[in-house]
Amino acid sequence: MKIAILTIGDELLNGDLADTNTAAIARILMDSSLPVCEAATVGDRKETIAAALQRLADTHDAVIVTGGLGPTEDDRTSKAAAHAFVRPLVLNDKALKQIRARFRAWKREMHPRNEKQALLPGRSEVITNQNGTAPGFHLQSNQADLYFLPGVPREMLAMLVEYVMPSLLSRFPNPPLQCQRVMSIFGLAEPDVEARINRNGLPDGVELAFNVDLSMVQVKLRAKGESAQKLVDRAELTVRKTLGDYVVSIGSDSLAGNTARFLSIASLTLALAESCTGGLIAKLLTDQPGSSAFLERSIVSYANSAKLDCLHVTQEILDHHGAVSAECAEAMAKGVHAAAHTDVALAVTGIAGPDGGTIDKPVGTVYLAMVSPWEERVERFNFHGNRDQVRLRTACTALDWLRRLAISQLSDTSRFSDTCGFSNDGEEN
Ligand code: ATP
Ligand code: MG
Repeated sequence: MKIAILTIGDELLNGDLADTNTAAIARILMDSSLPVCEAATVGDRKETIAAALQRLADTHDAVIVTGGLGPTEDDRTSKAAAHAFVRPLVLNDKALKQIRARFRAWKREMHPRNEKQALLPGRSEVITNQNGTAPGFHLQSNQADLYFLPGVPREMLAMLVEYVMPSLLSRFPNPPLQCQRVMSIFGLAEPDVEARINRNGLPDGVELAFNVDLSMVQVKLRAKGESAQKLVDRAELTVRKTLGDYVVSIGSDSLAGNTARFLSIASLTLALAESCTGGLIAKLLTDQPGSSAFLERSIVSYANSAKLDCLHVTQEILDHHGAVSAECAEAMAKGVHAAAHTDVALAVTGIAGPDGGTIDKPVGTVYLAMVSPWEERVERFNFHGNRDQVRLRTACTALDWLRRLAISQLSDTSRFSDTCGFSNDGEEN
């Protein structure tokens, strides 16, 4: 089955908006072993949209279209579809009823312009939109099924899952099975990851691909056919065994999510003192629901005065070693530890740039310090990249330190054997 995605909108072409719909749709299709053959983007001109629709409908079995179903003049998808497939644009009663019902549910008056959203190409089936005003529609042209969905990601995704997927799977009930798993590795360079995996070898039939996402190396394991899932499961075990604690997350998990989970499972409490990251570590951890179970505080001690006042870093340390130094990082961690009485305290201080670097301490110089009853650690890093990248690399390194500390405190490894607390001396089974 050949499936294409067409996203519509000038804003996608002029750089105002990143197209996340294509990736979101492709991911959901892949989960059902329906790979996407082509993805295209066009602007808001009716003729351009119509030409793209005709071309994709001629060369694919199914086309999923997003955007341009709104009530404003620049939303021209229905008009373009009617033009492309030579059908009249007709007021669809079912669509109009759904739009009216949506406004009633919101207790808002419907603007007459919203009626335009019920003008659909003839012989279309309405796709209900539970989350917005724009109904979608489904039409068939020769061999192709075309599904038109709104651009708003939340609305589009609900309609994709509720209508488009069942429709595709009823037309192609037994797609050849495919399975993909993404494993994120932190702390090793891409060639090193590849060399280590190659040394151990993966099961036959598993394809291996790599991707670098800032600080993370992503290992992609893919297989096709009846035993795709089993092959990928076995390959995952091999990679876990080979890379051990360097595997920080699998699939939709994240480093921050797993760090939060392990801190919670290990019942560890945490206090942070952040300088160059400006609260980013706390942000990433508090993005995780339930983070109040372990995070006691994070002090953003940006200026020297804050380091002196809030963390009791001494003037002598600042004068002799500077705010970006191992001594200062250690004093920050100890200062927040003493104030918060948590199990663990972690501090970061560094030069994120673009200014502030020196010969001894260029931009990207960062010190991390961690104190706990079990481990004290201070380290210097020389991160490369721009300001955002240095800050993110710092935050990821801090999360990784915390993740590893929490894992080391967990004696009962069976509690998290399905996660990334896998140790490389475990037995494959
Ligand atoms: P609306 O009723 O909001 O006008 P619509 O179906 O006409 O819906 P668009 O006008 O194309 O959709 O887009 C509405 C919003 O949806 C955009 O402003 C943008 O925030 C988001 N959006 C549209 N297309 C995409 C895309 N490909 N990726 C991510 N977001 C998108
Ligand atoms: Mg619109």
